[in-house]
Amino acid sequence: MPSTEVRLQKLTRREFRERMDSGELKACIIPVAAIEQHLEHMAMEHDWRSVNVVARAVAEKLSPQVLVAEGLKVGISEHHMSHPGSLTVRPGTFFSVLNDLIRSVVLAGFENVLVLNGHGGNVKPTEGVWDQFLREFKGTNLHFLPYWDVLNQADADELLEGGTQIPWDMPGHAQEWETSIGLARFPENVRTDMWKDQEDQKPSLATAEKGEAFLERIVERISGKFETIISGELQSENPPYFP
Ligand SMILES: [Zn+2]
Repeated sequence: MPSTEVRLQKLTRREFRERMDSGELKACIIPVAAIEQHLEHMAMEHDWRSVNVVARAVAEKLSPQVLVAEGLKVGISEHHMSHPGSLTVRPGTFFSVLNDLIRSVVLAGFENVLVLNGHGGNVKPTEGVWDQFLREFKGTNLHFLPYWDVLNQADADELLEGGTQIPWDMPGHAQEWETSIGLARFPENVRTDMWKDQEDQKPSLATAEKGEAFLERIVERISGKFETIISGELQSENPPYFP
């Protein structure tokens, strides 16, 4: 257990105020994810659980400088809605709430904010509006990062057996890569008796060991990148204005 709490929602207003006023708090992570079908064998909360595992581990590694704020559990998943039970929010809703969450933590005094993403479907829509966010939050060192972006082809080649194509196998969707992460940290969400019944057999190559190896690299690399954000070495770019 970390000696210092990293979850914003677990602090009282006094504890938050004292930590912010002391200069101890340097950065905030806002996780965003999805609740959507993950084939026949994984629970729908996978993206939310995995991004929180990463966010918490990074905050603990950089403790006491980083807090994890409450984020967006549900994401942009219209493309999964043919599978009943999947949840989705429309892009306008997603960005409206994300904008409000960023605004809240900026008002609280954070100068460095990382929106850490755990769902592929959020990526393209966010890239489309991100320069608007950078303009609106000019002065805040604001970043968006899908947590698998710190992995590369060499990692896939070394650790995956069923296929190593980016993005089809890593991150892919509920296949060897994601299933390994589930087995490593929340195995109760993986129904190993059901993965045999589906057409896609790649999930059966997943192991907890692979998941741990990926997570170790992810946490190490995001923490390193985040340190350069906190130090100011890595600054979000201010998009140009029309002359
Ligand atoms: Zn997923």
